[in-house]
Amino acid sequence: MTDAPVPAAREHPVPARPRFLLTLMRSGCASERIYRWTLPAHEGRLSDGREYNACPTAGICKDLCFARAGTYRFSNVLAAHQRNLQYVMDDLPGWERQMTAELQHRRYRSADGEPVHVRVHDGGDYWSVPYLQAWLRIFRSAEHVTFYSYTKQVALFEKWVRPDAPANFAWRYSYGGTQDDLIDPLLHHHADVFPDEASLDEAGYTSQTPSDLRAVYGPKTLGVAANNIPHLRARQGVQSFRSLQRSANAEKAARRAKRRGPSGRSA
Ligand code: SF4
Repeated sequence: MTDAPVPAAREHPVPARPRFLLTLMRSGCASERIYRWTLPAHEGRLSDGREYNACPTAGICKDLCFARAGTYRFSNVLAAHQRNLQYVMDDLPGWERQMTAELQHRRYRSADGEPVHVRVHDGGDYWSVPYLQAWLRIFRSAEHVTFYSYTKQVALFEKWVRPDAPANFAWRYSYGGTQDDLIDPLLHHHADVFPDEASLDEAGYTSQTPSDLRAVYGPKTLGVAANNIPHLRARQGVQSFRSLQRSANAEKAARRAKRRGPSGRSA
């Protein structure tokens, strides 16, 4: 009798891997070919019970997040995004190999001279340094593709990305996170979410509405009009994410000062 190979013990069951990791995005502009990679937004629990936070620096945005509402809550949609997260959590090298190989497929090669774009994250963010570093290697391996992201991981990007940024990667800081104070609006490409087109226009921002690729090619000040989700619009009111986060920070500081008392020491 020959010895049958013993499968390696695995802590978590491995779900089937999709053939393609990236999906085609619907774009307002028919000539744009944009693919995307998405994680589940903010906190949740995987099917095996593990808890996660895919947006560690989310601030007020977590209560106004379009990626935690509407179709994103459909069980099949959420499950697909959680499978993505589980893949990078459990087998980051395997995922990186698959993504690197996939980007050499002909569907990511331009046939008409227009570059193919990949948006990294619709929901979720660069939740760890190893995950960010895996993406940086992937960007460099696929110079024929232009990648872009919105992120609230300002400190991480200033440390790990800006000093040696891949030429085919554009990122934009988005307001509403716990690191808003690190965003320099005069220096950094950034985005703020406004209640509507009129208010972003009034604030001197350029609307992202005509094309998602304004994240890449638009000016430093990009404005996003809030999604048409009634309960989120009601919660946001007339302020932008930046201004809501500023108020939340001020309230937090006031609470802290009150706890400390006049002596400046915590009670
Ligand atoms: S960081 Fe982005 S995806 Fe995460 S909760 Fe905030 S708005 Fe949603």
